[in-house]
Amino acid sequence: MSDFDLTGIGMTSQRTRDRLVDRLREQGIACEDVLQTVRSIPRHIFVDEALAHRAYEDTSLPIGSGQTISQPYVVALMTESIHEKHPEKVLEIGTGCGYQTAVLAHMYPQVFSVERIEALQTRARKRLAALGCSNIRYRIGDGYAGWESYAPYDAIIVTAGAASIPHALVSQLAEGGRLIVPVGDSDTQTLQVVDRQNGELVVNNQADVRFVPLLKGTA
Ligand code: SAH
Repeated sequence: MSDFDLTGIGMTSQRTRDRLVDRLREQGIACEDVLQTVRSIPRHIFVDEALAHRAYEDTSLPIGSGQTISQPYVVALMTESIHEKHPEKVLEIGTGCGYQTAVLAHMYPQVFSVERIEALQTRARKRLAALGCSNIRYRIGDGYAGWESYAPYDAIIVTAGAASIPHALVSQLAEGGRLIVPVGDSDTQTLQVVDRQNGELVVNNQADVRFVPLLKGTA
């Protein structure tokens, strides 16, 4: 038996997923592409079996190594934000358990994901392969540096809280592209949206959020 089980995707989880989508809609997520993607991805395979029954609650959950799977509302909010740019190439910083990666891989042709903890990314890769996601490239490294070799990216999503907007990520953003990053201290952050428009950078604050910190260096 593998450490995740695809056979458990029965009626119950589809119903609870539908309820999660209803809840996201009530909270203001309006983009049907995002909602349909959340409806189609089994979030319970991204957490330990002991927590699988809580996978469709709108909450973050532990995934090991002191990290968490992001709250579905925040995943939906960030994805909705980059979706406005119709990106083809998306860079994600913080693979974690791979749930946000799965959402991106369902919606966009090319996904690049960087994680500093190898054990987490190894597990995430197995789950994403089991789901048939073959449009993702993975790297173990320090996300503060982005992933220069495949830059520029049409969208960059950072799924951990940074002390300030990482310069390397801004430099790897394509013209017309969007970077979304939680910026603040270890307790709370503000979701900042950076657009590169006509060669200029435009920064907007989107929402208050709570992520685990973006740490320097690899584990
Ligand atoms: N999108 C993930 C979020 C995981 S939590 C999910 O829903 O599961 C944030 C992740 O960012 C953790 O896995 C953590 O190890 C990773 N991380 C923190 N600092 C990092 C850095 N500098 N570079 C790459 N990954 C980092």
